[in-house]
Amino acid sequence: MTDQAVSTTTTNEKVNLLDFDRQGLRDFFAQLGEKPYRAEQVMKWIYHRLEDNFENMTDVGKALRAKLEASCYVGPPKTMFEKGAADGTHKWLLGMDGGNAVEAVYIPEPTRGTLCVSSQVGCGLNCQFCSTATQGFNRNLATSEIIGQMWVAAKYLGNVTHQNRRITNVVMMGMGEPLLNFDNVTKAMSLMRDDLGFGLASKRVTLSTAGLVPMIDKLSETIDVSLAVSLHAANDELRTELVPLNKRYPIAELMAACQRWLDRKPRTSITFEYTLMKGVNDQPEHARQLIKLMRRMPNCKVNLIPFNPFPGTRFERSDAETIRAFQTQLLNANVLTMLRRTRGDDIDAACGQLKGQVLDRTRRQAEFRKRLDEGASHAA
Ligand code: SAH
Repeated sequence: MTDQAVSTTTTNEKVNLLDFDRQGLRDFFAQLGEKPYRAEQVMKWIYHRLEDNFENMTDVGKALRAKLEASCYVGPPKTMFEKGAADGTHKWLLGMDGGNAVEAVYIPEPTRGTLCVSSQVGCGLNCQFCSTATQGFNRNLATSEIIGQMWVAAKYLGNVTHQNRRITNVVMMGMGEPLLNFDNVTKAMSLMRDDLGFGLASKRVTLSTAGLVPMIDKLSETIDVSLAVSLHAANDELRTELVPLNKRYPIAELMAACQRWLDRKPRTSITFEYTLMKGVNDQPEHARQLIKLMRRMPNCKVNLIPFNPFPGTRFERSDAETIRAFQTQLLNANVLTMLRRTRGDDIDAACGQLKGQVLDRTRRQAEFRKRLDEGASHAA
C-alpha cells in the first residue's frame, strides 16, 4: 500500500497548500520562519472564504503575502465540465494530470446537501456491478485533489462555512476505494472536519469501503468520521462474486472489524450499503441472511441502493415491488432500513455511474471490453 500520489497541480516546485492539513500547514509556515497562527489565518481564507489569491488575504501582511506568492499556491483541480440535473443534482468532472479526470457530485435534499467525493483515479477492486471497475485503475489522488473537489463545489455553490452551508455532508463514495489511499484521504477528511477547514461534524463525514479489514481498524484509530460498508450480499459465495475483495476479507472478518469499530466508538453506528440487483441478491432468502447478520449489529443501518445501470453491465435494477418487499422484510425484523432514492441519473451521476476519465494502468478496461465482446459473440 505504497502512497504514490503526488500533487499534480504543482508548478515550478511551488507547494500546493491544499495538500496540507492544519498541522502540515503550521509546519510549512514554520519552515518559512512564520508563526503558526499565520498558518491558521491563511487556512481560514482558503476554506471559509474560498480564497485562492494571496493578494486578497487582506489581514496577511504584505511581506508574508510576497513570501507565499514565491513559495506556494492554492491549487484546486480544474473543472473540465459541469452539469446540473433536473432534480438539482450537480456533477463536476475535474481534470487531474495527463488526461485523467474524476467526478464529484452534489445532491441537495430538503434538510441537507451531500457531496460525493472521489478518492482514486479509477479503482482496482473490480466490483462487478460498478462502472468505475470497468475503467481500471490509474493512481491515488493527492490530498489537494480530494479536498479540492469540495473546494470547487463549495465555491460554485456559494457555501459559507459555519453560516450558510450548502454542503452539510460529505461521503467518500465517488470513484475509488478510499482505504487504499489512506494517508491522503484521512488528511483530506481532517480538513473537512477541522473548524478552520469546512468544520463538519464527525457524523457528517462518511467514508465508504468495500471492506479492507485492517484499514478499518486503522481508520478508527486515526480520525473521527463515520463508516459505511458496502456489503451487497450476506453470504460469502455471492459476496465474493460481487465484491472480489471478499475472498481476502470474508464476511465474518469484516463483521468482526465492524464490531471492533463499534466497541471503540460506542455511540456511533455503521451504515451497510446494499445495492439491489434483479434476481441476484434481492430475494427473500437474501433478506433473511442480511437480517441474521444485522442481529449482531443492533444500532446499525442498512441503506438499500437500487442498482444503477451503465453501458455493458450484465446486471439490472430490481423491480420497485421487489425492492419494497425486501425493505419491508428487513423493517419487520427491526432492522433500520433506508431506501436511497436514485438521484441525478439523467446526468449519470448516480452511485456506480461515475466515470471520470481513467488512463488505465492495469489494462482492466481492455480485458473488460474483450469479455464483453466474447459474451456478445457467444450470444450471437
Ligand atoms: N469503494 C468504496 C466507495 C465507492 S462506491 C465502496 O466500495 O464503498 C460507493 C457505493 O456505491 C458503494 O456502496 C458501491 O457498492 C455502490 N455502487 C457501485 N456501483 C453501483 C451501481 N451501479 N448501482 C448502485 N450502487 C452502486
